[in-house]
Amino acid sequence: EQQGLAQYATREAVTTDGHRVEIAANIGTPEEAQGLVAQGAEAVGLYRTEFLFMSRSQMPDEETQYRAYREAVEAMEGRPVVIRTLDIGGDKELPYLDLPKEMNPFLGYRAIRLCLDERELLMTQLRAILRASAHGPVKIMFPMISGMQEWREAREMVMAVRYQLEQDGVEVGERIELGIMVEIPSAALQADRFAREVDFFSIGTNDLVQYTLAVDRMNEKVADLYDYFHPAVLRLIKRVIDASNVEGKWTGMCGSMAGDPLAAPLLIGLGLHEWSMSPAAMHKVKQVITSSSREACRALAERVLDMDSAAEVREALQAFAGTHS
Ligand code: PEP
Ligand code: MG
Repeated sequence: EQQGLAQYATREAVTTDGHRVEIAANIGTPEEAQGLVAQGAEAVGLYRTEFLFMSRSQMPDEETQYRAYREAVEAMEGRPVVIRTLDIGGDKELPYLDLPKEMNPFLGYRAIRLCLDERELLMTQLRAILRASAHGPVKIMFPMISGMQEWREAREMVMAVRYQLEQDGVEVGERIELGIMVEIPSAALQADRFAREVDFFSIGTNDLVQYTLAVDRMNEKVADLYDYFHPAVLRLIKRVIDASNVEGKWTGMCGSMAGDPLAAPLLIGLGLHEWSMSPAAMHKVKQVITSSSREACRALAERVLDMDSAAEVREALQAFAGTHS
């Protein structure tokens, strides 16, 4: 089967009735971008930059970051790289940032909250990213956005850093799309407002499920409650995609739901534009997409959105997979 799947490296993700979507890869290091183009990745949909910060004993300086981002951008040979700004806190600690112990780290001082507070840290990262954007298409994505103010402040900082670099005569990419991760229910519920201002959304189901269902994504004891097919999660996903369509923006998904072949027909039906996943999952997901029609997927999505439980949804998706492969 692996052999058969390899053919999907060079095939586009087009449904049987001609609807094309984008298949992208998640990476944690620039080395992981090597060879992605040959595997058929059309973009890096999520570059988790926190590993660059976690893998050393002191803060990486601007030059170190610039080299890493540039390496990823160059490896993609002109295809876009969505760089996510530092998503630290929660389960991810930094040895050189003395963060206080928290009762609820996943609800605490993390990601964009920390970055808007430690402004120097985010400024340095943005400088490095903007410099790397001179070498290929870069998009910037902010994690854990819970309200409009955070997004606007982050966007302000990008504009300030760009101005500064241009004043210094440093080359910066002309057009850099700015987007947010939708991984907190409040952002999904306000997607209509965000869609007027952002260039794109990327749905982070790993956290979105955790926060929507109040289920710790790391806790084995409640793992059976953790399910991206929960109808409440599906309603949020639909809401986000619909809101982006109203404003002519695009929505991607970079949580693990995007790499699940069972979910692919449903996501086609909901109108998702871009899938970003671990590289190993790309071919299988492409196989499913290229063997389904958008029309059938839309009918499936409509039925599924009317269901009461994740178990029912899963059953319907399995039945669909059985008749469309
Ligand atoms: C997510 O929350 O779905 C996501 C992609 O980000 P992370 O897994 O890094 O929290
Ligand atoms: Mg997340």
